[in-house]
Amino acid sequence: MTSSPPRKLRFATVWLAGCSGCHMSFLDLDEFLFDLAEKVDVVYSPVGSDAKLYPEAVDVCLVEGAVANEDNLELALLLRQHTAMVISFGDCAISANVPGLRNLWVGTEAVLDRSYLELADQGGQYPHEPGIVPELLPKVRPLHEVIPVDLYLPGCPPSAERIRLAIAPLLVGEKPLMKGSAMLRFG
Ligand code: SF4
Repeated sequence: MTSSPPRKLRFATVWLAGCSGCHMSFLDLDEFLFDLAEKVDVVYSPVGSDAKLYPEAVDVCLVEGAVANEDNLELALLLRQHTAMVISFGDCAISANVPGLRNLWVGTEAVLDRSYLELADQGGQYPHEPGIVPELLPKVRPLHEVIPVDLYLPGCPPSAERIRLAIAPLLVGEKPLMKGSAMLRFG
């Protein structure tokens, strides 16, 4: 009797309020991406899938970026509902980091004024068609403040090697050892 091949992990990556640098570092995995492609199905990702809706029954999801607006919050809640292991991917997801700098201002009005009026080259105005720009949350929040997180992968961005060391054990059903400065240093 022949045994059936092991089930491929359903793998996702999500981009919230971040600069995409963490995803760029993920793409730096180079040949490890071929190993990954053999062992996972990428079911949702800004860099590896055309899926528009976050799917059900995801095994692992790397989440880049902080939670800064209503769309980020909605996606974070949805992915938590449908993902076994959520990984806070990079310093923005873990601490709010760069997008969190706007928390120095109270409320969102000063930020919107600065972005859409003061810094406009000419004729600054707020985007006023509904749905064009998601509402900002009053504060930018790290991911673990809005949903439970299973693993933290720091770095700005995490190096490709650190990403590989975190992901490779998951492919064989083990939890990575996030220990020491090689795996845990911020920045
Ligand atoms: S952690 Fe750094 S590289 Fe990653 S999204 Fe934030 S600013 Fe960009």
